[in-house]
Parts: sequence; structure tokens; C-alpha cells
Amino acid sequence: MAKAPGLIFLGPPGSGKGTQAQYLSQQLQIPHISTGEMLRSAIAEATSLGQQAQSYVERGELVPDELLLDLIREQLGQPKAQQGWILDGFPRNVTQAAFLDELLDLLNHFSQQAINLEVPDEVLIERLLLRGRQDDTKETIRRRLEVYRQQTQPVIEYYDQQGRLYSVDGNRVLAEVTSSLQQVVAV
Ligand code: ADP
Repeated sequence: MAKAPGLIFLGPPGSGKGTQAQYLSQQLQIPHISTGEMLRSAIAEATSLGQQAQSYVERGELVPDELLLDLIREQLGQPKAQQGWILDGFPRNVTQAAFLDELLDLLNHFSQQAINLEVPDEVLIERLLLRGRQDDTKETIRRRLEVYRQQTQPVIEYYDQQGRLYSVDGNRVLAEVTSSLQQVVAV
């Protein structure tokens, strides 16, 4: 592949985007930038970011945009991201999507593909309850799905309107989803 891609993983909580992003990042040798993971480790280490983000994450709300913008700027500006990257968990609302476009213009970055992993709600809830992460309680899951529909769904439309959206059926065994993603990336 001449130019490694900028991949934006969309898709609801529990859609498997973290797992797939991790795998593809190893295969393509490009960094996997997961805002959820960065926030969880900031919370575990009780950094200033972690302290500010904790109550939002625990309630299943989005953390305020300004907590994430510097982080994304820093991650995408680093040398190892110059050949490509996978963003997982960002952008999660239209403000973040517009910020990302501006930032990528500035950084002179290659074109991006947004990938939406589609999975029905009842499957998502089942998967998240099985996963049992600290923010995977019934109440938080319900709220995260609601926030996803309200705030992240418009991001999917944003990329769709620009002809940059690829939808993949995420309700299949891992390897099948991976192989569909590989096809999308090779386009
Ligand atoms: P999932 O998609 O499975 O819910 P993530 O690991 O992507 O999990 O995110 C966990 C939590 O971190 C979210 O519920 C939210 O509180 C916070 N978060 C992650 N990314 C963002 C973001 N881009 N903007 C605001 N909050 C975020």
C-alpha cells in the first residue's frame, strides 16, 4: 500500500470497534488512538485529565470536548502518525468532527475513511453486559447508547454526506468482520 490510511472508527459501544481497530493497527503498522482507553488510563492514574473526566465516563456521558482536543492534536501530530492512524472513539459529536477536519487540513494529512460498524441494540447490550467493564452497568449502557444515537449518529451522516462513509455489518464472528474491514481499507 502506497499510503497508509487515516481510519475513523465509528459504531456504537459494544460494536467491536476497539478489537478490530487494535488488530488492523498491528497489521497496517499504524497507531491505534483510542480516546476511551486514554481516558480510562488517565482516570486510573488520577491525572488532571482523569479527575476531570471521571464523573462523565462513569455516567455514560461524553466528556467535554475541550478535554479531548489537545490530546487528539498531540496524538495526530506525533511522527509515528504521519504514515496513518486509526481513531477509535473520536469524533463522537459533530463539533469534534469539524475540529478533526480542520486539524487534518492543517497537518496536511492524507484522506480519511470513516467506518461504521453496525450492530443491533439488543446484541450490543448483551455484549456489553458480558464484557463487564467498570462503566458497563445496565444504567450506564442505556445512557451510552442514548448518547450515541443523539450525538454520534449525526457524525455518521456528516461523513456519509461527504462520501467518506463505509458501513460494515458488525454482527458476525470477529474474523468475518475483520475481512470486510480489510476489503474496505484496500479500496
Ligand atoms: P464505548 O464506545 O464502548 O462506550 P469507549 O472506550 O470508546 O467506550 O469510551 C468510554 C467513555 O469515554 C465514553 O462513554 C465517554 O464517556 C468517554 N469518551 C471516549 N471518547 C470520547 C469522546 N471523543 N468525546 C467525549 N467523551 C468520550
